[in-house]
Amino acid sequence: MYHGNGRTGRMVGPRELVERYEELDESLLREAHARFPVQVTRSWLRRMGTPDDALGRQTIPVPAELEDGDGDVSDPVGEAALRPHPWLVQKHPDRMLLLLTRRCHLYCRYCFRRDQEGARDPSLSELDEALVIAKASGARELILSGGDPLAVADSRLAHVLASARPELPIVRVHTRAPITAPWRVTEPLVALLRAHAPLWVVVHCNHPDELNEEVDTGLSRLVDAGVPVLNQAVLLRGVNDDVDVLVRLSEALMARRVFPYYLHHPDPVPGSAAFRLDLERGLALHDALRGRVSGLALPRYVIDRPDGSGKVDVATWLRGTPAVLASQREED
Ligand code: SF4
Repeated sequence: MYHGNGRTGRMVGPRELVERYEELDESLLREAHARFPVQVTRSWLRRMGTPDDALGRQTIPVPAELEDGDGDVSDPVGEAALRPHPWLVQKHPDRMLLLLTRRCHLYCRYCFRRDQEGARDPSLSELDEALVIAKASGARELILSGGDPLAVADSRLAHVLASARPELPIVRVHTRAPITAPWRVTEPLVALLRAHAPLWVVVHCNHPDELNEEVDTGLSRLVDAGVPVLNQAVLLRGVNDDVDVLVRLSEALMARRVFPYYLHHPDPVPGSAAFRLDLERGLALHDALRGRVSGLALPRYVIDRPDGSGKVDVATWLRGTPAVLASQREED
């Protein structure tokens, strides 16, 4: 069933979560919430069985989140030094990432942007300023990120998309909204995205249980309109570190015409130690997945290099950087 009304879009915070799940510790949720919002969508909650299942673990804080973990890094993917403007990140000469908002519909406990300073969103004039810099940079591809770029109003999105061209001809929208807030994929939004082709939507789904009829409706709207949809998942301990789950995820995405693009090794985000697994285990899981799905259904297993130089295949990273790995292990 497709829901598009405001009530369905109401978010669920610590109080309602504690009311629903008596086993939750309200003071823990409130303390975690003060650092990084504890918030899920009503739609997500309908798909979540318990705080300990695959959806619950991604969104309900555990005590370890409030502790310093071994190997935590405050700027895990090295973005801090790569900002030509407070709302831009440039890791590669041909691509520019615009941080359209800090807001998300739902907050993932492993998010690598959880530690951004300040709480406000960019103003329209700050976004315009950032776009001027992005267009003059020589980059050809604009990646809309955040937060979740679909957490902003269509009018703001339309303004940014119209302003980007012609200097930035390729646009990618990195959003979890079609999975977490499927009501956001309205027909006017899809028409807007379609009108700005070539534009690619990259969603973020980690577990097949995140996909249901509501999500299917939104994904079909995008694909039927000719908007290419790709997925990037994060490999998370206790959520999807199981080859059967990864096979089911790839097959479920393919069935929905969504390309399983990336499987990310988790970043060493402060407070996210509970989600981490070692690279060798991740590679073994990916090798097992390779044996079970076609080449088209096999995501690339990648890691974001801590120096900000971007992604690399984990197999290449393990082979090529023994010194870095050795020093990481020493730090652990
Ligand atoms: S939706 Fe994306 S940006 Fe938002 S909290 Fe989750 S991982 Fe972070």
